Amino acid sequence: MAADTHLFLCLKDNYGVLVHDSETGATAAIDAPESAPVEAALKATGWKLTDILVTHHHADHTDGIADLKQRHGCRVVAPRGEAQKIPLVDETVREGDSVKVGKLSANVIETPGHTLGHITYWFHGDKLAFAGDTLFSIGCGRVSEGTPEMMWASLLKLRDLPGDTRVYCGHEYTLANIRFAQTIEPNNAALSARAAEAARQIAAGQPTIPTTIDEEKAANPFLRADLPAVAAAVGLSGKSAVEVFAEIRARKNKF
Ligand code: ZN
Ligand code: FE
Repeated sequence: MAADTHLFLCLKDNYGVLVHDSETGATAAIDAPESAPVEAALKATGWKLTDILVTHHHADHTDGIADLKQRHGCRVVAPRGEAQKIPLVDETVREGDSVKVGKLSANVIETPGHTLGHITYWFHGDKLAFAGDTLFSIGCGRVSEGTPEMMWASLLKLRDLPGDTRVYCGHEYTLANIRFAQTIEPNNAALSARAAEAARQIAAGQPTIPTTIDEEKAANPFLRADLPAVAAAVGLSGKSAVEVFAEIRARKNKF
């Protein structure tokens, strides 16, 4: 039985998403930026909240937990590495653990860098990944707590997922990410195609996610830091992928 998903905006540009197992009725919220839009999404779908799967401790991913838990008594699953910074955690998970949502099953992939304990939930059977603030569509999260080495290694783990995995991320940053990416690879045809598609989606009031691993490999400069052409584009020919990644990330911070 396939997973159903329901995506909605929270706060200014955060995404909330529900994952639903139609066989058992179990429903997980991936992160909880604020409670009201999650409640509205539950009402719109008729689904009953059973779990909250937290990717990392930042307030724009956790501020809705207390309200939702009080109202629904749902289980809160959080990364072991930063569970003490997240309210009302019932269960902590780490690399290699699996999390059940009804009969759906997610593998936990540790993807530190944005925060030290950040995790990604990969529902391999459903070809779905929830990457929080690690991988964005045509971008990646700021390296707030970790190192560029750490973030690059995390992005490589995600890049290695099956190409047709649909990736949900924590924010709608795609258009700004594309504008930046075009300064790195102005002649990347996949990126140009993506720019046109994303502009159309935003104009129509639609989200630009989910994206896929294959689309990101083709157009996201942060996943392409080990390509000679990308190294050359930032004046770092012959340098390591980590150095190229760090330079692209530094440029994006100033963009
Ligand atoms: Zn964050
Ligand atoms: Fe965030």
